[in-house]
Amino acid sequence: MIAGTLLALAGGVGGAKLADGLAALLGDRLGVIVNTGDDFEHIGLSISPDLDTVLYTLAGIANPETGWGVAGESWAFLDQAVRLGGPGWFRLGDRDLAIHVLRSERLRRGERLSAITADFCRRLGVAARLMPMSDAPVRTVVETASGPLPFQDYFVRHRCEIPVTGFVFAGIEQARPTPEILAALAAEELGAIVLGPSNPFVSIDPILAVPGLKQALRRRGVPIVAVSPIIAGAAVKGPAAKMMRELRLEVSALAVAEHYAGFIDGVLIDEADAALAPRLEALGLAVRVAPTLMKTPEDRRAVAGHALTLAGAVPAGRGSA
Ligand code: GDP
Ligand code: CA
Repeated sequence: MIAGTLLALAGGVGGAKLADGLAALLGDRLGVIVNTGDDFEHIGLSISPDLDTVLYTLAGIANPETGWGVAGESWAFLDQAVRLGGPGWFRLGDRDLAIHVLRSERLRRGERLSAITADFCRRLGVAARLMPMSDAPVRTVVETASGPLPFQDYFVRHRCEIPVTGFVFAGIEQARPTPEILAALAAEELGAIVLGPSNPFVSIDPILAVPGLKQALRRRGVPIVAVSPIIAGAAVKGPAAKMMRELRLEVSALAVAEHYAGFIDGVLIDEADAALAPRLEALGLAVRVAPTLMKTPEDRRAVAGHALTLAGAVPAGRGSA
């Protein structure tokens, strides 16, 4: 365990589940830096899928069936929009619609995404601080043999079927770590940084690509540990494993750790991957082996606890590399 505060980095589903477990243990001592590379504009609305997934999850109102969106959803708006000739490929539920309309309006008035997000957290009773990785728009572009695709086109419209060759984070040069992120990093009580079991390429890498952020996290001198999204050679959900194959990487927790080499001090891997521990230790990493599949709220708390224990076990001095 760690004393003080903790910063987690997260995409949507996997990151949100770990953040939920961490929030149960740490309450308002948790800050979550969330990927905004998936954000896009759709029928006049500014949509932030990962921020919303983390927000709904921590607020206890996430849709348990889909893994995204709000519980108790209905689809009257979408049905009528499609009848009127609107696009139906991106599923916007009636309840979910509220956050997109209100966020879009507030962004148009010039409010920062960070401030809007903090206000939504307060109103939904979320004690943890959710922080978009940047207030300036960043848009992940998926490179494929048949040309570049905006992330949501790749992810939702094409259901990740087209093989990827690489990723570009458009707008990243203009992005800066937000005042909220810098304040969370400067806090004397900060005890550790945890990379959630999120997609390394399209959830964590965009965060680390914000100019200056990766260096600021590393220089802060606290343990940085990652939770593997790959269990027994497969992703629990989503295209992470498929992307690794297409990028000619081994699909394993080892390859995930190698992807973060030089940045992380430790890695939490699933008990199904226990045999990888010696090779991870040979990379100079602290390793913890535990069940990491999060199906229930208890699982989330348990995995969060293992991540904190791992961070606490990183030898002093390692965090100041
Ligand atoms: P997205 O933005 O919705 O794609 O969400 P993330 O990038 O945060 O999470 C996607 C990753 O979470 C996938 O690579 C999954 O393998 C991983 N994941 C989902 N559920 C779990 C889980 O219960 N345990 C672990 N270890 N990883 C998970
Ligand atoms: Ca996402």
